[in-house]
Amino acid sequence: MSVGEFELIDKIRRRAKVGAEVKLGIGDDCSSIAVPANHELLTSTDLLLEGVHFRLDWTDLHSLGIKAVAVNVSDLAAMGAKPVSLHLAVGLPVGLSDQQVEAFIDGIFAGLDRYDLSLAGGDTCRAQGPLVISVTVQGLCHRDQIITRAGARAGDDLWVSGTLGDSALALRALQSGHPLSDFLAERHHRPQPRTALGQQLATQGLASAMLDLSDGLAGDLPHLLRASAVGAQIDLARLPLSEEFRAELHKDQRLIDLAICGGEDYELLFSAAPEARPVLEQLAVQLELPLQRIGGIGSDPELRFCMSDGSAYQPQLAAFDHFLSNKG
Ligand SMILES: [Mg+2]
Repeated sequence: MSVGEFELIDKIRRRAKVGAEVKLGIGDDCSSIAVPANHELLTSTDLLLEGVHFRLDWTDLHSLGIKAVAVNVSDLAAMGAKPVSLHLAVGLPVGLSDQQVEAFIDGIFAGLDRYDLSLAGGDTCRAQGPLVISVTVQGLCHRDQIITRAGARAGDDLWVSGTLGDSALALRALQSGHPLSDFLAERHHRPQPRTALGQQLATQGLASAMLDLSDGLAGDLPHLLRASAVGAQIDLARLPLSEEFRAELHKDQRLIDLAICGGEDYELLFSAAPEARPVLEQLAVQLELPLQRIGGIGSDPELRFCMSDGSAYQPQLAAFDHFLSNKG
């Protein structure tokens, strides 16, 4: 790599757009973000490690840059916050070419533009080792509107945005060495955080509890249930599935476990009072984003997946992992 570290930082600094909330951005020892009256600043950090969270032979650097921004913005969406600023720290392997570094930085800026985020600070370092990406995002939310995981009540409905399992289906294809369709590549490499939905749910006070799905319904829903001290019943027949997912499911029914346990959907899962149903259906039309009621919250602290005949379904997690690793 020939671009010097200071040169790279300078290039990034020249491109960094700074929004009105950023009082001090790149160039001082700290950034400073203004918080309007009655608002709170929400912060989330993610670490993305080559070989653990991504593989450079499966993704291009531009998509990786966009995704690094998107998955963090999804955490802001999950609490109803408006994205404001991002801090980026990267450990760049010495073997990465200038073109690869530029593609990655271009991807980061594409993500910043897409979610109207200011790049407020960061750090870079060359290292012998894998690519390490640490992204910290900050967003603003009125203090009375922040949606946590803790507000779900017995009797609430459970809703999910978009479709489930597409990203896991894409991962399965990559692990089998099969090319991805455009749709699956988009779902896996360029997930769309549901920022508009998150903010609408917050400002309209529609969701009692919420999180974003990064580790699958079976992995993430228990966090919400524990925080709210409730249980839930999920109606498997109501899980929102894409046409492409349904086509694969038709060939192999076991793939339903990808929609239940598969990660990286970055859809929003939230609870809401039954009275909110008409407003939520209207919101789905307005945002052109499907919202699906997949079950309900109960006082009994357990999570049940139900088949259409009412019988309980146990996702075959172990079998599923084995299935995946065999395909690798
Ligand atoms: Mg999250």
